[in-house]
Order: sequence, then C-alpha cells, then structure tokens
Amino acid sequence: MRKIISWTLVAVLIFSFGTLGLSYADNTAQNQLSDVNGQLSDVKSQLKEGKKLENSLNKEIQSLENKIKSSQAEIDALGGNIAATQQKITEALAELDELEKDMEVQNTNLNSRLRTMYKNGSAGFMDVLLGSNSITDLMTNLDRVQRIYDSDKQLMEQLQEEHNLIDAQKKNLLTLQAQLVAAKEEEAQKKEALTEDQSEVTDKKAQVASDNKALEEMEQAFLAEANRLKAEILASQSTGTTYQGGSMAWPAPGVTRITSPFGYRIHPILKVKKLHTGVDIGAPSGTTIVAANGGTVIKAGWNNSYGNMVMIDHGGGIVTLYAHNSSLKVSTGTVVTRGQAVAISGSTGQSTGPHLHFEVRVNGNYVDPMSGWIAN
Ligand SMILES: [Zn+2]
Repeated sequence: MRKIISWTLVAVLIFSFGTLGLSYADNTAQNQLSDVNGQLSDVKSQLKEGKKLENSLNKEIQSLENKIKSSQAEIDALGGNIAATQQKITEALAELDELEKDMEVQNTNLNSRLRTMYKNGSAGFMDVLLGSNSITDLMTNLDRVQRIYDSDKQLMEQLQEEHNLIDAQKKNLLTLQAQLVAAKEEEAQKKEALTEDQSEVTDKKAQVASDNKALEEMEQAFLAEANRLKAEILASQSTGTTYQGGSMAWPAPGVTRITSPFGYRIHPILKVKKLHTGVDIGAPSGTTIVAANGGTVIKAGWNNSYGNMVMIDHGGGIVTLYAHNSSLKVSTGTVVTRGQAVAISGSTGQSTGPHLHFEVRVNGNYVDPMSGWIAN
C-alpha cells in the first residue's frame, strides 16, 4: 500500500515535470501558463485529498491511543483484583492451616477420651468405679465422662464444619483467580493487537505526510513557474507597443442583437446628448462574456457608471472594455487569451436593463468597435 502511494506520486512528479519540460519547446508562454495552472490545480486537489487522509489517520491514531489507554486501565484493574484475590487465598490457606492444627489437637483429645472410655475400658471403668463412693456416684462420674466426650466430639464437628466452609471458599477464590488471570491475559493480547494497529497506522500516516510534503513542494514549484510565466507574459506585453493583431472575437458569443450603436445619442438615463462610447449588445443576464483578444486585464472591478467592468490591454495602445456585468471571472493582472471568459453579463452600474456595453479604445480615444475592429 505504502509503496503504491509512493510510486503513484513519483509517476505524477515525472509526468508533471516531464510534460512541463516538453511543452516548453513549441508552446507560447500563454499556453505554458495554462498547462502549469492545470497541473497546479491537479496537485492542489491531490494535496487536498492527501491532507484529508492525513487528518483521518491522525484521528484513527488518537482513537487507538485512547483504546490502548483504557485497555491498560483494564489490565491494571484486573491486576489489582488478582492481587486482592491472592491475598484472600493466602488468608484462607492460613485459616485452614490454623483449623487443621486445632482439629489435630481436638482429635488427640477425642482419641485419648475414647481410649479412656473404650480401649482401656475396664481400667477406666475400674478407675471410675474405685474412685466412686457409691453406685450413684459411679453413675454420675460415668455420665460426666460421657458428656466430656460428647462435648469434645461436638467441638470436633464444629471445627470440621468450619474447615469445610473455608475450604469451599478457597476453591471459589482459586476459580475466581484463574478467571481473573485469563481475563488479564486476554486484555493484554487485545492491547498488543491495538498497539500493533496503532504502529501500522502511524507508519501509514508518516508515509502520507511525506507524500503531502512532496505535493506541497510540487505546488510551490508550479506556483513559482506560473509566476515566472506570468511575469514573462506581462513583461512581453508591457514592452510590446504593437497590437497583438488579428480581428477581435465577438465578446458575447451567441448574441448578435445590437441595442444601441456607438456615437452621439440622447443618454437613456441622463437625457442629454452624449457620446455613446461603445456598442450595447443585447446579452441577457448570465451570458458568458469573452475577451475580444489576448492581453492583460488592467482593471477588473466596480465603477459607478460601468458597474462590474473589465478592461483589457491588448498592446499597441488598444484597450477593450466590458461593462454592466453581474460577475467577473478575472482580476487585475490576469493574462487572458482571445475568447477566454472574463465576465457574466448583467445590468449593474448605470444601466436600464441587461446588456453588454463593449468599448474599444485606441490610445485612450473611443472608437466604434464596429468600424473594422470587430465583425458582427
Ligand atoms: Zn452602452
């Protein structure tokens, strides 16, 4: 995956700079600029995707980091439970040990009592008999021995019962302990898998970040090249005192109706006889307005009379102007080619309805665009 990304990028780099190099041999600076701008736009969109990927990988790394942290907390908690359970097991074992000792003592007592009563039955009986003053006394003494034995036996049974209880508890604790150890082991494996995932995603992110860095360098290179070409074009045009030549393109393609010609007329708003400095072409709102010829935009912006306007210098003192647009597609300094979209028509500024006011100026003087400059 990583390798594929890298090689794609390398291919893009070679392709981009390759075509850049090749295109220089037989294209004008203007065409080179279009190529460079196209490639710049490609790099920008690739970079946008790359940055998006980098961001989402960063989020993934963060989310894995959080999962690892909570997994570690779980491991710690299980470790604490295991230690506590171990403590209880140790206590139970000590208690059992204690009980077993008591039981041993008790068992010895019981056995000796038993021996007294049964094993050495006659001797014991004789002792009791000889020690007794009467039959009643004898019976009382025999009864006493029997009761001590019963009491010892009962105590022994109690000890046994307690022993059984604690032994059962110990077994439960051992089962719990085994479960806790297994759970901790499982959690540790989970954490290890998460850590591996995180390391993979981190590597991937590093690769994407490095690709993005390369793209940013490409972007800078294309920008520098575009600026160099723009400067070259501007320099050639500002020093060139001759008109770039050829007949002008119709500025409102698809619209032929002239609603007001060049020349003196009664101004539709000011109501005084005034020179109409251009031709009005009946372009409906939204018509694409194009550059009549190649040149440099010397003004693109607002004018109270012209509304949103564009002025293009074509060299040799020839300037064209496009007025009353709803929006502009170029800015001051933009180098345009013949037929390139510069605006969208409208009815801004001093205008009675949607149209294009188109002017041709020669050394600052208004001329009739229809007098040979442009074909209707
Ligand atoms: Zn006009």
